[in-house]
Amino acid sequence: MESKEIFDLIIIGAGPAGLTSAIYAGRANLNVLVIEKEGIGSLLMAHKIDNYPGFSDGITGKELYEKMKKQALKYGVNFRKSTLLGIDLIENKKIVKTDSENLLTKSVIIASGWAKNNFSKIKGEKEFLGKGVSYCANCDGAFTKNMIVGVFGESEEALEEALFLTRYAKEVIMFTHNYKKSFPNDKLKIVSKAILEEIKGNDYVEYVEINENDEKKIYKVDYIFLYLGTKNPTELYSDVAVLNSQGYLITDDNMKTNIDGVFAAGDIREKKVRQISTAISDGTIAAMEVIKYIAKNKNLKELNYEKM
Ligand SMILES: Cc1cc2nc3c(=O)[nH]c(=O)nc-3n(C[C@H](O)[C@H](O)[C@H](O)COP(=O)(O)OP(=O)(O)OC[C@H]3O[C@@H](n4cnc5c(N)ncnc54)[C@H](O)[C@@H]3O)c2cc1C
Repeated sequence: MESKEIFDLIIIGAGPAGLTSAIYAGRANLNVLVIEKEGIGSLLMAHKIDNYPGFSDGITGKELYEKMKKQALKYGVNFRKSTLLGIDLIENKKIVKTDSENLLTKSVIIASGWAKNNFSKIKGEKEFLGKGVSYCANCDGAFTKNMIVGVFGESEEALEEALFLTRYAKEVIMFTHNYKKSFPNDKLKIVSKAILEEIKGNDYVEYVEINENDEKKIYKVDYIFLYLGTKNPTELYSDVAVLNSQGYLITDDNMKTNIDGVFAAGDIREKKVRQISTAISDGTIAAMEVIKYIAKNKNLKELNYEKM
């Protein structure tokens, strides 16, 4: 992987928890990036908020979001609209994988909330998970010997995984919305302007229904790998946090997960009250802990990320 900017902190989510963390960490001069999935989140869904102190006439969630974001931007916080696909840990290094790029950071605050449409699945995805549906070519690629394999996604990761799968599969079809590059590999075919609508089969995946250029098409596939941001919290976070039986992330009172440098704040946490004010409280505590963590671990700067 080429050398890239290393952030002090990446915050996943731009709800009240994530934006509060961003304001505190930005104001403390940390190099902060917030990634936000387009158009979702409980804050944006709240039409009128009457119980958040300071707004006696009420305020909409969207207005509150805009005000908080403006305040974070004032402190130099960076924002990107992208979807988290996973977090990899390699020793002290943290790689935040999104549908547009892989990012390096010294610390992470997970503040991705609990909106219902946050992790909605494709039709058939749940049913065939482990029966021809996978999220990880490195883990399951070896099962695809001589098969026709579909890969769905736009990210660097999706392409890398598709190329990796050509080692095993008879044919790999990468379905994308808007992928522009082409790659010389006899086994890899790219289908663009394709949206996955349904995964079908009997005991195992047998074919997929695609909306291709506004036309319904069917492709025969034996195995598919999804990089579409449809993972639920257990699938996304179980390597970087302990989750309870309902999928909420368990932290201590300082918002720390069980992994050094990884924190969680807001509705994604196991807690009793899920409101804007409690998300803000979590976001404040998490940011204060990150500020201490970065100061204590100054030598993180010296880590050789280029060697990854
Ligand atoms: C309809 C409705 C009305 C409500 N009314 C009130 C009210 O009146 N008063 C009150 O106090 N509370 C209210 N709430 C609750 C309140 O909105 C939440 O408790 C609060 O927004 C939680 O904040 P959060 O930062 O944890 O998450 P959210 O506000 O849900 O924000 C989550 C963020 O994470 C991002 N995200 C999610 N998944 C990903 C991903 N895979 N990759 C990248 N980014 C991702 C989203 O884009 C979003 O920016 C209401 C909730 C709803 C749904």
